[in-house]
Amino acid sequence: MYQDQTLTCEDCGKEFVFSAGEQEFYAQKGLTNTPKRCPECRKIRRQKSRRKMYSAICSKCGAETKVPFKPTEGKEVFCKECYKQMQKASATA
Ligand SMILES: [Zn+2]
Ligand SMILES: [Zn+2]
Repeated sequence: MYQDQTLTCEDCGKEFVFSAGEQEFYAQKGLTNTPKRCPECRKIRRQKSRRKMYSAICSKCGAETKVPFKPTEGKEVFCKECYKQMQKASATA
């Protein structure tokens, strides 16, 4: 089975452990690459790449959702689920 691996972070050069559990998780997701960065650097990169998201209320189901644009009052906003359903509906129409 899996064994903990010690890897070197590409960004900060620090060693970090790619644990057996993480390896299993990666394998389950079908990822064959080993992580190149330590968890801290990965977190930093994720935060940097994350676009600013605004919370909005879905006009259809009322669920709170996040949108990449500032919601305009009076304009309809849909959550991911409703958006998906609408796309499906329009595809079959
Ligand atoms: Zn690092
Ligand atoms: Zn919705």
